[in-house]
Amino acid sequence: MPGPDATEACAEALADARHVAVLTGAGVSAESGVPTFRDALEGLWAKHDPMQLATPEAFVRDPQTAWDWYRWRRSLVAEVAPNPGHDALVALTAHVDKLTLVTQNVDGLHQRAGSRDVIEFHGNLFSDKCAHCDTREPAHTGDAGDPLPTCGQCGRVMTPGVVLFGEMIPPAAMQASEIAATTCDLFLVVGTSAQVYPAAGLAGTARACGAGIIEINPEATPLSAGADHVLRGPSGEVLPALLAALAA
Ligand SMILES: [Zn+2]
Repeated sequence: MPGPDATEACAEALADARHVAVLTGAGVSAESGVPTFRDALEGLWAKHDPMQLATPEAFVRDPQTAWDWYRWRRSLVAEVAPNPGHDALVALTAHVDKLTLVTQNVDGLHQRAGSRDVIEFHGNLFSDKCAHCDTREPAHTGDAGDPLPTCGQCGRVMTPGVVLFGEMIPPAAMQASEIAATTCDLFLVVGTSAQVYPAAGLAGTARACGAGIIEINPEATPLSAGADHVLRGPSGEVLPALLAALAA
């Protein structure tokens, strides 16, 4: 865990900021027990290539198998709960002038914790989308082997509402994230390895526009050297400590 001086310095930066933007990544979800993309390729799925399951082509070639994998991932996420890091980000909104939350996670745990207006950079596992007419619907329920969800507008088979390999970031999420990065004066990067673009580029954009950068992560990342403050540790411990320092 970071020392009290580092935490205090970050709390002061938060108190001084007019607009705080936060980018969260897989580490925040992993602390709740959400399997990473790689972890979700175990057991029955160990022999599968993710490129055969998580691409638009997979849903054309063998939609039943691709859907069975996503339904299994949904069942895993449904069993976990938000952690103290998610909760601290909800509470943080009451202590700063403005907070914009951008997440690379698709599990909806920020919303389950109580965060609102979350910008979902990579979509949401618990929604369905139609690649043909761009319709989005709440996730159709179903288990492995059940009939596939079809679009209420055009009747074609839908895909999960996540960004599949080879797909664009949803334009609205991309635009809202870039606005946040260019207008915030403090940018927190939480629980991300900062290696997946374009999300990883948001911190660079924020820095170029004059924002301070705080990194919260157990390990060093490519962003660490350029961060103004680094708090080493799991977000479920670091964020509550930061909140306590800010509220003191
Ligand atoms: Zn459709």
